[in-house]
Amino acid sequence: MFKKILIANRGEIALRIQRACREMGIKSVVVYSEADRDAKYVKLADEAVCIGPAASSQSYLNMPAIISAAEVTDAEAIHPGYGFLSENADFAERVEQSGFAFIGPTPDCIRLMGDKVSAKNAMIKAGVPCVPGSEGALPEDPKEIIKIARAVGYPVIIKAAGGGGGRGMRVVHTEAALIHAVQTTRSEAGAAFGNPSVYMEKFLENPRHIEIQVLADQHRSAVYLGERDCSMQRRHQKIIEEAPAPGIPRRVIEKIGARCADACRKIGYRGAGTFEFLYENGEFYFIEMNTRVQVEHPVTELVTGIDIVQMQIRVAAGEKLPFAQRHIEMRGHAIECRINAEDAYKFTPSPGRITMWHPPGGPGVRVDSHIYTNYFVPPNYDSMIGKIIVHGDTREQALARMSIALSETLVEGIQTNIPLHRELLVDAKFVEGGTSIHYLEGWMSQHK
Ligand code: ADP
Repeated sequence: MFKKILIANRGEIALRIQRACREMGIKSVVVYSEADRDAKYVKLADEAVCIGPAASSQSYLNMPAIISAAEVTDAEAIHPGYGFLSENADFAERVEQSGFAFIGPTPDCIRLMGDKVSAKNAMIKAGVPCVPGSEGALPEDPKEIIKIARAVGYPVIIKAAGGGGGRGMRVVHTEAALIHAVQTTRSEAGAAFGNPSVYMEKFLENPRHIEIQVLADQHRSAVYLGERDCSMQRRHQKIIEEAPAPGIPRRVIEKIGARCADACRKIGYRGAGTFEFLYENGEFYFIEMNTRVQVEHPVTELVTGIDIVQMQIRVAAGEKLPFAQRHIEMRGHAIECRINAEDAYKFTPSPGRITMWHPPGGPGVRVDSHIYTNYFVPPNYDSMIGKIIVHGDTREQALARMSIALSETLVEGIQTNIPLHRELLVDAKFVEGGTSIHYLEGWMSQHK
């Protein structure tokens, strides 16, 4: 096992990885930007290295600075967390070429899945069902594009091959709007992701977002850890996640889960990963794979009892998965609410000093957050300041525990989306379960 790991991230996930290392008896090095100098996990770190100014491009995205931090501290491995460099194949390659272990899949796998067109092709080959659409990237010829859209059937969605974070997508309802939409998405994708390639999918009108968590080792063993329902989204950004997904029969999950584990073996995947699907009328349609730990991994940890971050580390160190599929059981129900520093209804960011923080507690409540009273939320990064996760024997109990947890939570000095979560937790449709990815935006437009 590694003796020392460098954590190339910030915020709650840096703290989460630090905790996993501590439990495993591994020393950890945190890197931080000037804006994060006062973070508690930085102060409590075994070692901490400043890698640059607040701007991510000069700190958390600064590959040479991160690799030299690993060199000067004698770390053996680098955990990239999520976001930032976590899905950057060039970074993974440079980490490995510099003699460190990258806690994630091989650079080739990241590259394959990082381009959504090549990812879909690989999945079709591996027998994973995908959203119907263009075969590969769209051609230049407008006539060809119109032909493809007619075959797919309107509405369609134009998506950037290199897109991520809910950006680089455009829904098209009519042939008249098609070519302009393709051109705009192409030029936006070129500017934002350095890759102008776009593809087309059928736009599903009422799907749920269901994803499968997988774990694979370097010895061709792969398992799935059940599913998560992440349908509560705004602008393609998840805000509430839960496991298991309400109302989907276990045998349906087992079938798609087995396909995903199989695909992992076929592409030589290692580490933790997530297959994201849209689910409509009882069918799964693959949209993309995330080759890293996800924000919402704790709900899976609570229902399976498996520590996903520790497993990532074990697999990266060459260990075999300590269990087979038949050993994995889902127990009870877990729900996560993402707490963002933003106006609950307008969603404008609300950085600044937290004058008071009182986290919730009690049976079945977990809080993953790096904030504290007097912590300053920097304006430079993502607005998520933590996650409240609850577990119960039943979904009903988990919902009750989340409502209580939210009512106990106190954040003063900045605005958060907690008021929105409190309302959603008692919303009749959400309580019933199984709402589609469009539900929250519809709800918002009625509750302004
Ligand atoms: P990103 O990498 O930016 O997260 P995804 O491909 O995972 O992009 O899509 C993000 C979200 O966009 C999905 O969860 C869903 O809400 C919506 N979406 C993507 N593809 C489709 C589609 N074919 N039909 C309907 N909604 C879609």
